[in-house]
Amino acid sequence: MRTDVNTLGEFGLIDHLTRAFPILQPSTVKGIGDDAAVIDNGPLCTVVSTDMLVEGIHFDLAYVPLRHLGYKSVVVNLSDIYAMNAFPKQITVSIALSNRFSVEALEELYAGIQAACEAYQVDLVGGDTTSSPKGLTISITAIGQCEKNKLVYRNGAQPGDLICITGDLGAAYLGLQILEREKRIFMENPGIQPDLENQQYVIGRQLKPEARRDMIETFRRTDLKPTSMIDISDGLASEIFHICKQSGTGALIEESGVPIHPEAELLALKFKLDPVTCALNGGEDYELLFTIAPSEVEKIRYLPEIYIAGEILEARDGIRLNTKGGNLHPLKAQGWNHFNAS
Ligand code: ADP
Ligand code: MG
Repeated sequence: MRTDVNTLGEFGLIDHLTRAFPILQPSTVKGIGDDAAVIDNGPLCTVVSTDMLVEGIHFDLAYVPLRHLGYKSVVVNLSDIYAMNAFPKQITVSIALSNRFSVEALEELYAGIQAACEAYQVDLVGGDTTSSPKGLTISITAIGQCEKNKLVYRNGAQPGDLICITGDLGAAYLGLQILEREKRIFMENPGIQPDLENQQYVIGRQLKPEARRDMIETFRRTDLKPTSMIDISDGLASEIFHICKQSGTGALIEESGVPIHPEAELLALKFKLDPVTCALNGGEDYELLFTIAPSEVEKIRYLPEIYIAGEILEARDGIRLNTKGGNLHPLKAQGWNHFNAS
């Protein structure tokens, strides 16, 4: 018998493969299933997250400069640590590469990794280097710290909690659409220079994302502890599903509350895409989705770049979108569903 991995999907596959692993160590506070694992180390917990990026699947060196790739590879990992309300401290970087890559090319990659280490004040403390028959693979592990009582998981949302989003959504996906379009045009006609004018914001969001350390600092300063949190790597729809599934709740998202940058909105319309669909199902924004108790709303009401986008409901209410026209639709998580798609 042979079962295709696509029949299970990413999360079904992870679940299938890891179901038979019980937690054996009392120090394992959180295992599989959140943005990062949590290990009890006395007064502070250690938070660990790992991600792998594969050339041709996660990045295309036709339009991603190696320096940006290095920076982004680190940032996407740090984002998972912040999503636990923790601060990253160290990373390890492992690479598998074919002989197509020169020392100079790898220096560029590491210049980006270094820039991210400096920007986020994390130390590169190890890794592994190996050859590969084809292409480049980068695997990064981020290690962070947090007081046990400050950790925020995906499973703490309660009916009545407010759903909050940082920054704006959909722009990274639209940036990718431009880069893909310009690549296609270039492949068909190498004489034509790419037209990236006036799209700096969305292209920047795709090529040089940042993780929301500032928001975690804000939470500390205002003494706010979200009831649940996740980083938005696969689109809002997919992430709210994770929060609701793990918290045993439903949710109502207000379409009018989903933050979209004006440049992203205009560009979506130009591409004949619905801006809200880009925000709900486009990926790689690396913003934070979190929930707070209604009694905490004064702590965030006047903070820049935090938007209230809905409310947590009872599980029986399902996960729904209230459109600007006043219609209620069940929300569909299109996110990651195929082994080539993300
Ligand atoms: P994120 O999108 O936040 O990076 P993922 O969706 O990659 O998280 O992973 C979901 C959970 O499954 C995480 O806890 C992750 O550590 C775990 N996981 C993913 N792949 C594997 C695997 N091959 N073996 C064990 N655990 C895995
Ligand atoms: Mg995550």
